[in-house]
Amino acid sequence: MTAQFDPSLIYFVGAGPGDPELITLKGHHLLGQADVVIYAGSLINPALLDYCKPEAACHDSAELSLGQIIDLMAGGVAAGKLVVRLQTGDLSLYGSIREQGEELAKLGIGFRSVPGVSSFLGAASELGIEYTVPEISQSLVITRVAGRTPVPERESLRAFAAHQTSMAIFLSVKEINEVTEQLIEGGYPASTPVAVVYKATWPDCQILRGTLADIAGEVRAAGIRKTALILVGAFLGDEYHYSKLYDAGFSHEYRRA
Ligand code: SAH
Repeated sequence: MTAQFDPSLIYFVGAGPGDPELITLKGHHLLGQADVVIYAGSLINPALLDYCKPEAACHDSAELSLGQIIDLMAGGVAAGKLVVRLQTGDLSLYGSIREQGEELAKLGIGFRSVPGVSSFLGAASELGIEYTVPEISQSLVITRVAGRTPVPERESLRAFAAHQTSMAIFLSVKEINEVTEQLIEGGYPASTPVAVVYKATWPDCQILRGTLADIAGEVRAAGIRKTALILVGAFLGDEYHYSKLYDAGFSHEYRRA
């Protein structure tokens, strides 16, 4: 069964972290039916464009301003074409869909979003780890360092570090020195494990492991400057407790000890 899509709307589609098989079925259907595709060329896997019709017009948004992106979208809708905006990972993290949505609203054009597998999930699968480890960490902070996009001071890495919880840090590998300094100043022991995952789920994925004390040197030596996540926390370490849920001695709603 193939869904019907409404060409009076713009469809924002999460492309997933890289592996072209990690897009959702709905995203795949949309690409297969799209007449116009505007994709974030700096991050998405171009193999995803193979799902498009040969006659689809595909535009790399890396070369376009917000105004030009909106013009392409509005032109497509006016011509009755199905328009897809393809962005990396999931749209809800550093996706800047809000500004696109607001510009579209000014033109009376609505949008729908189709979620994607975020890169922090792709990175966890590369490592075969769980961010939430019983009795070690039950929370995950998703954040970035301040760059050209400022971060409110109350959300500084230093402030979050006080919790010593699991962290997935986006858009910050170029600033790995600042990241590790701030996390140590904020309260993580220098021996806290760190993994840097470059291009999770791509064929050329690279994984670096170390601690807050030495990972910056490894990142520099590997020459990694973009498309990487910095994962920090004791969840990457050796301490582990089995989950109570599957413990034979633990009763719950569906099973008695
Ligand atoms: N919406 C995206 C994030 C966009 S911001 C998502 O949900 O993943 C771009 C940042 O995401 C990059 O700087 C990098 O930190 C991270 N990123 C995107 N794809 C990645 C991948 N395959 N592996 C590691 N990090 C990735």
